[in-house]
Amino acid sequence: MQVVGEMIIGRTAVQGKEGTVKAIDPSRNVEIEPAFGLAGAADLQRAAELADKAFDIYRATGLEERAKFLETIADRILDLGPTLIERAMQETGLPQARLEGERGRTVGQLRLFAKVVREGRFQSATLDSALPDRAPAPRPDLRLRKIGLGPVAVFGASNFPLAFSVAGGDTASALAAGCPVIVKAHSAHLGTSELVGKAVAKAAEECNMPEGVFSMLIGSGQTIGQNLVSHPAIKAVGFTGSRAGGVALMHTAAARKEPIPVYAEMSSINPVFLLPGALDNPKLPQQFADSLTLGAGQFCTNPGLLIALKSDKLQAFVDAAAGTIGAKPSQTMLTPGIHKAYTSGVKGLAGVDGVKQVAIGQTGDLPCGAQAFLYQVEAKRFLTDTALEGEIFGPTSLLVVAENEEELLAVAEHLEGQLTGAVHATADDKALAAKLLPVLERKVGRILFNGFGTGVEVAYAMVHGGPFPSTSDSRTTSVGASAIDRFLRPVSYQDVPAYLLPESLQDANPQNIPRVVNGDLVWNG
Ligand code: NAP
Repeated sequence: MQVVGEMIIGRTAVQGKEGTVKAIDPSRNVEIEPAFGLAGAADLQRAAELADKAFDIYRATGLEERAKFLETIADRILDLGPTLIERAMQETGLPQARLEGERGRTVGQLRLFAKVVREGRFQSATLDSALPDRAPAPRPDLRLRKIGLGPVAVFGASNFPLAFSVAGGDTASALAAGCPVIVKAHSAHLGTSELVGKAVAKAAEECNMPEGVFSMLIGSGQTIGQNLVSHPAIKAVGFTGSRAGGVALMHTAAARKEPIPVYAEMSSINPVFLLPGALDNPKLPQQFADSLTLGAGQFCTNPGLLIALKSDKLQAFVDAAAGTIGAKPSQTMLTPGIHKAYTSGVKGLAGVDGVKQVAIGQTGDLPCGAQAFLYQVEAKRFLTDTALEGEIFGPTSLLVVAENEEELLAVAEHLEGQLTGAVHATADDKALAAKLLPVLERKVGRILFNGFGTGVEVAYAMVHGGPFPSTSDSRTTSVGASAIDRFLRPVSYQDVPAYLLPESLQDANPQNIPRVVNGDLVWNG
């Protein structure tokens, strides 16, 4: 399949007529062919109308039918073969192995959600039988299930051009929930988006899904993205990107005549606490340097902050980390804009009073190359300047040195909401770790021990979320099976005649799903 510069509106590939834009190869900082047509108001209106019309038809699809659709999307993505990987490499500067791995994850996510759909538990089917003879008042027959919210707008992430983009986690979980999806393609990987968008459209056609179950618009966030979120047909938003972009969409969604939920994953510096016992681990400096520089540091779970107690062992860690970081080459960043933001973020940090550079990676002559850094600051200084908590998206971290345990805990308490919080500790650190844990529970979505947050498992028990500003809604996750909950809402059916009840709530349980019946979990029947 060739990239020709088209978006997808329903089943149709469309060339936008509101101007053109080209993708950029960040490894050379040059535009690449072809030109992509930009969507206008009429394109958005058509996609929204189709999605609105598709909603009732799509949400009525059987569990098997919907699961098959998700699996067919996965198959059609794999059919794209090397064409997809080559285009993604060109547009993002990410290496082949990383993108092949990410494709595997994307396909794996779609298949996981197919399983979630087949299992049917996501509907939370719950039955309370009528008690007509109950005194003083009878109890009605009550039955609850969860249904999709309606059409969802998805904003793909620049740093995961496959797994968090057109057919990534947000799209897969929204489709699994029974919601049509309209993607606002990320301008950082337009050709990759076109290829994947067409694969989804092909799967929709093959599986006889309604025309508006999926569309993908090309245009800028400020115009088409904002108008999409404002459109009355849209009932929820999934977003991964900058704090500024996510907050702008939260405001737009809240200001609508009908406000809608925004699930935005934004900014996180992922504190890593190095407790004294863990500093004896000779592999720690290397493990940290590897996590810091993985994917040029362009992970939302990148370890942007280290916190430790002042000691000779800590100095030895810093010296060893300086050696390993010093050997790390400069790496191409995703876009010239992200590179510029990184360079200016590092410059800003380096210029702060009391902040000193303790490690520096290699330079190179890549036009969008990111050099790795480790800076250090005293906890007292950190606690007085919230600017030191800002995310620097790329391979730079700040080590905060505390004089004592109270100061270390004060730093933990001072932090904004985070996706992850890591603790490196041994049994000797038990007392301090036990004080830290309840603080981290309030601050982060995932607590991990003796590891780094980079590498987010797609699983049932995963939480990739956290308090603001890491996300806009800490009650959910954007990775793993529970991500489907974001796009569902409960409906209770009181005394609805049996012949009108949805399958999941019928007495005979034709879907054969686990349900809660009169307060007890019943696996079958
Ligand atoms: P971004 O600028 O927030 O863009 C993400 C998506 O949202 C794009 O499709 C963009 O449209 C759109 N958008 C941006 N601002 C908008 C607005 N005000 N209204 C409506 N839509 C808007 O993020 P990015 O380009 O991926 O990366 C830029 C910065 O975001 C990075 O330097 C980094 O700081 C941060 N980032 C964080 C994470 C994370 O996981 N924490 C991940 C990626 C990036 P366009 O296509 O028109 O730009």
